[in-house]
Amino acid sequence: MKKLSLLLLLSFVLLSCKNEKELALSNDNSKAIDSIQPKANDFAIIIHGGAGTILKKNMTPEMEAAYKATLEEAIRVGYSILKNGGSSLDAVEKTINVMEDSPLFNAGKGAVFTNEGTNELDASIMDGKTLNAGASAGTTTVRNPINLARAVMERSEHVMLSGKGAEIFAKEQGLQLVDQGYFYTENRYKSLQKIKDSEKTELDHDDKQVFYDPNIKDSKFGTVGCAALDKNGNVAAGTSTGGMTNKRWGRIGDAPIIGAGTYANNATCAVSSTGWGEYFIRGMVAYDISALMDYKGLTLEAAAKEVIQTKLTTLGGTGGIVAVDKNGNLVAEFNTAGMYRASMNDKGELTIGIYKE
Ligand code: ASP
Repeated sequence: MKKLSLLLLLSFVLLSCKNEKELALSNDNSKAIDSIQPKANDFAIIIHGGAGTILKKNMTPEMEAAYKATLEEAIRVGYSILKNGGSSLDAVEKTINVMEDSPLFNAGKGAVFTNEGTNELDASIMDGKTLNAGASAGTTTVRNPINLARAVMERSEHVMLSGKGAEIFAKEQGLQLVDQGYFYTENRYKSLQKIKDSEKTELDHDDKQVFYDPNIKDSKFGTVGCAALDKNGNVAAGTSTGGMTNKRWGRIGDAPIIGAGTYANNATCAVSSTGWGEYFIRGMVAYDISALMDYKGLTLEAAAKEVIQTKLTTLGGTGGIVAVDKNGNLVAEFNTAGMYRASMNDKGELTIGIYKE
């Protein structure tokens, strides 16, 4: 009898030890990530300026140089914030501001046109330390939507504001407002006309609206995004866009949707997406990458590959992501011909890319 009770006690102790260990592992998966992918950088930053059918044969040397110069200007802003001990949130916001203020990208100044010939902008930002997030959708007068997304995160009790209400909030917060004329760029307007013309032809054959045509040059490229890790080990990500050319009915893409267009978590990584938004929403792309690292112990590189090259591609979606993990590993993954991108590590090494290689 005594023996039996001892045996029971022993198995109980053994069982509780096992449970505790399992709990510790599942609660501390960030340590598991450290063991499979050790520290690469104390701080690091990566950006994208949109993915799509970006082919060298369609690009002039001048255009290529202009894109590269703006990507470099933008990333250097974030890099110096991080180098001087600033936060990843500040780096993400200020880096995105540079691209929003450039007519080259489909965000802020260079936003694409809706079917009605207006511009409706979306953005989001996420703090990996607190899992706080902010987003704005369908705004027409806010010059820098990423600043609005951050204000929503830090100065409201909500995560996402849209349309008129978001604009009232932006005004109350003292953010810079502009009139719609500010967003006019000839190239983007021409892209709308091109799509509308092709839509007419298409409608004759098939009663379907052409929403997005990857073969129409410049029809949608240029959403901007950034992911950063700061010296305190905090990651953040942000995304800003004009959405898709010819969008209508108040269409909202993935860029302002936390988990699809943007995600950040100090336990895993920070991700910003670009591409055909509907697929990124359905695939919960940004969160899925973090979840694969979290639940399956994949490296950032393996998780990003799985989500973009297998899951998104199988779904029929096109686009890509940039991401940084908690240990400063940087990844740019896309299934399109190109993606405007740049990164900098803690040694100040800069890489800039446009095409696949
Ligand atoms: N993802 C954006 C959207 O669907 C567009 C893009 O990234 O090019 O609104």
